[in-house]
Amino acid sequence: MEIKNVTVFGSGVLGGQIAFQTAYHGFNVVVYDIKEEFLQKAKEKFAELGRRYQKDLGAKPEELEAAMSRLAYTTDLAESVRDADLAIEAIPENIQIKKDFYTQLGKVAPEKTIFCTNSSTLLPSQIAAETGRPERFLALHFANEIWKNNTAEIMGHPGTDPGNFQIVVDFAKAIGMMAIPIHKEQPGYVLNSLLVPFLRAALELYFKGVADPQTIDRTWMKATGAPTGPFAIYDVVGLTTAYNITKMNADATGDQAMQQAAQAIKENFIDKGKLGVATGEGFYKYPNPAYQNPDFLK
Ligand code: NAD
Repeated sequence: MEIKNVTVFGSGVLGGQIAFQTAYHGFNVVVYDIKEEFLQKAKEKFAELGRRYQKDLGAKPEELEAAMSRLAYTTDLAESVRDADLAIEAIPENIQIKKDFYTQLGKVAPEKTIFCTNSSTLLPSQIAAETGRPERFLALHFANEIWKNNTAEIMGHPGTDPGNFQIVVDFAKAIGMMAIPIHKEQPGYVLNSLLVPFLRAALELYFKGVADPQTIDRTWMKATGAPTGPFAIYDVVGLTTAYNITKMNADATGDQAMQQAAQAIKENFIDKGKLGVATGEGFYKYPNPAYQNPDFLK
């Protein structure tokens, strides 16, 4: 099956990026959201994304105009998928919201449409039944700032048809992604299965008093040649995520040191508005963080 028409559900952070990237690569895209005002915001976001594509990818104005012209917008769910070959869902990360959404969608979408979820933490098997088409349902998971961090993790559930899996792998490549086929359901896919324990271990070293963030980052950078260490990564993903990971870990394990660490992140960073790169300060100060200084690794 050739994919031509794509629908994206949810025009928030990731949905907006997925829609724009897909249109930029020549597909017709319908953007669906629950309110007209959200679609209006999405249009403004696309203009901003265009500037990022120019700066980061050297996109030409006529290419951006062509991308814009391939984007359509609606709040009517049935209308949004009327011609869809592929539909990508990027609505809030809440299992009940997603289940209700797929129950509705399954009723109005044409039979041919393949459904993909961009969920970061849910497994496709948790919502496959609600779609009414488990063989045509799988995960297609992007990373924030998809035009630069262009990985796409493709993960089915045991009932996903392998042919549909391959169609989605090919589609991911066609929109400029490095496709990462995942052959078994795995919470966190590949990337977060590596990244989350890594980030958690860094915080543990810090809050247990083993070493300070700069020493930990330096060690990682020098020894592996990586351009950043875990605390620089926290600043990029945001300290709210640091807090959530720590709190979840502390609640799950009953570890008192991690419980105190979560509290310390809240009081020393979040309550003071130090949320990372986005607010100009986290573990480092921006725009010139210490780890970018050539002396940092001396
Ligand atoms: P977001 O809150 O920015 O956007 C969600 C969008 O869904 C909003 O535009 C909202 O109006 C819309 N929406 C709300 N209820 C809806 C409904 N019932 N039906 C249709 N649309 C509805 O969220 P986000 O950060 O873009 O995350 C969306 C999905 O993408 C989540 O599953 C998340 O796990 C995943 N994801 C997020 C990131 C990230 O860095 N933000 C990265 C990878 C994957």
